[in-house]
Amino acid sequence: MYQTINRTTGRAEAASRGLPFTRWADAMPLCAKAIREKRMPEEADLADMLDMKYLIIRHKRLAEAMQLARRALQRNRDFAFAYYVLALPGEDDVAGLRAAKRGLKCPATEESLFLRTQFLQRAVEMAADLGAQILLGGPPDEDDQRHGVATALFLGAMEDAEQFLAEAPPDNRHRPKVLYYYTLLQIAFEDEISPNLHEIKSTLDALRTAEDFRTWLTSSPPPNTQLRLAQQNVVKHYRDAQEEWADVLSASQDAESQQGTARATGNEYVKWLHRIDFAEFACLGPGGANPAHWRTEKPKLYAWKECNVELYRCAWCRTAALGLLQCSACGGPRYCDATCQKRDWKAHKTTCPGRKN
Ligand SMILES: [Zn+2]
Ligand SMILES: [Zn+2]
Repeated sequence: MYQTINRTTGRAEAASRGLPFTRWADAMPLCAKAIREKRMPEEADLADMLDMKYLIIRHKRLAEAMQLARRALQRNRDFAFAYYVLALPGEDDVAGLRAAKRGLKCPATEESLFLRTQFLQRAVEMAADLGAQILLGGPPDEDDQRHGVATALFLGAMEDAEQFLAEAPPDNRHRPKVLYYYTLLQIAFEDEISPNLHEIKSTLDALRTAEDFRTWLTSSPPPNTQLRLAQQNVVKHYRDAQEEWADVLSASQDAESQQGTARATGNEYVKWLHRIDFAEFACLGPGGANPAHWRTEKPKLYAWKECNVELYRCAWCRTAALGLLQCSACGGPRYCDATCQKRDWKAHKTTCPGRKN
């Protein structure tokens, strides 16, 4: 903003410089208008970016910015900034997660560390929250796909957290949040975490460093968000919980091996995954069709990475969701919708067993 100091009050006041705006932000819609008046199709994204940014930072009108983003994507389906807007915290995490995952596929995202870390941190947050919402809905029923989706959501959150932590610079302000999620996911889904948590020591060390860094940068302690408190509680009480539940866990594991069904235990999702019949998804997974080989793997979540969670993830954008559509030619890969299927066809048509020549 152009400002002068009022000598009487000592306050800063807006000063006119003969421009049609006094705050810099208010120049954005004027720039967008000027760009549109040039009628250069290749600059349409630029004008939309300015308008979206203006709606968000100056007016907090996120819903309108999102509408503009959706319209812009009809013109350019690789418009990374439009996905960035759609992945901001809004009302719909399902749509937001899909936007973050599609944003990660945009060519511009490969060039931009800012966009990449932004999409990744939002994807971790939304996928973990959506997975938790499913779990809060109750234990799995027979053929309950929701729990398959929850597993795929958590696995996706772990993968995206790992990529984020590998790439985000130490001053990235989302680092602590991603590490809170990552600790909880590791404790919940990695097998055989000892009572002293030494298997995830590097994550806990990284979190301490990230929090110290934030404290130093902002001169204030990390805010006690619900997520931070949850993470601290789980870490603090993990040993006690292990001891308290040890008998129940081992009894229920014995029962499962007799009945072949999963019950609500720490490893319920992994156990539940055992029941899925891979035969019909033979075209998926590492090295093609050999489900028998996958079953012999140690029942650790990571061992399932390449096979059954694929049933609940879009083969193109990798979003985990209910109600994915199958390739109608082979019934193999799943997609969010026709958009993702079309984007994947170039790759899938070379291996699709049902493809007509
Ligand atoms: Zn998709
Ligand atoms: Zn196919």
